[in-house]
Amino acid sequence: MKRMPMIAGNWKMFKTGPEAVKTATQLAAACKDITDVQIMIAPAFVSLPLVAAAVKGTPVCLGAQNLHFEKQGAFTGEISADMLTAAGAEYVIIGHSERRQYFFETDDMVCKKIRAAVTAGLKPVMCIGETETQRDREKTFLTLDKQVSDGLQGFGPEEIKDLVLAYEPVWAIGTGKSADTGQVEEVHQYLRSLLEKRFSSDLAQSIRIVYGGSVKPENINELMRITDVDGALVGGASLDADTFTKIIRFDTTL
Ligand code: PEP
Repeated sequence: MKRMPMIAGNWKMFKTGPEAVKTATQLAAACKDITDVQIMIAPAFVSLPLVAAAVKGTPVCLGAQNLHFEKQGAFTGEISADMLTAAGAEYVIIGHSERRQYFFETDDMVCKKIRAAVTAGLKPVMCIGETETQRDREKTFLTLDKQVSDGLQGFGPEEIKDLVLAYEPVWAIGTGKSADTGQVEEVHQYLRSLLEKRFSSDLAQSIRIVYGGSVKPENINELMRITDVDGALVGGASLDADTFTKIIRFDTTL
């Protein structure tokens, strides 16, 4: 089955509203002819409506970086799925390793957040990945298995058909040290077979599994040549429109 590749930019806590609009506008102009790659950027919450207006009618779509799992309520400082869709988000990143590490998100919270997103019609980009210690102790597959099983507990295949699974080894995020192609290939194959075992072969074949961790113009081509890699979640290298455009315009023949 042919899966449309997705290249997504996670802008984390960078860029003010005007700065986000400027980069998004440059990116949209540089990518205006692209129809075969799903391009997504995830700016800070406050920039969502501004960036939504800037990319309207272009191939660039919007994502948020997080959400709260409750529909609404007395949760000071939090943001709901409905607020994100109203602000123009189509996707939402859930369970990023920085959320797990610094904000103590558990697989159970990830599961509730995915439920909230799906209920509101937001497409989740679910992040999973092992730490360096887990890899060194040969616990990579065990870790990923638990993150997928617990994070998607109670879901049927139909409910998660638009979910994007992002494999992001924690040791490769923001370190400049990307996983090598052998490691990525092995994990992506494993994840697809895990989805088949837990859900269905149709879901496993249609779902996009993207890689994240120090993706840059220099390594995107070899990553995209891997059969089970359907795109990339990019942090640092997505902040500059020219650099991000080079990643979006990957060429697997090079
Ligand atoms: C990320 O934050 O999801 C990420 C992959 O970051 P970087 O590309 O900077 O490693």
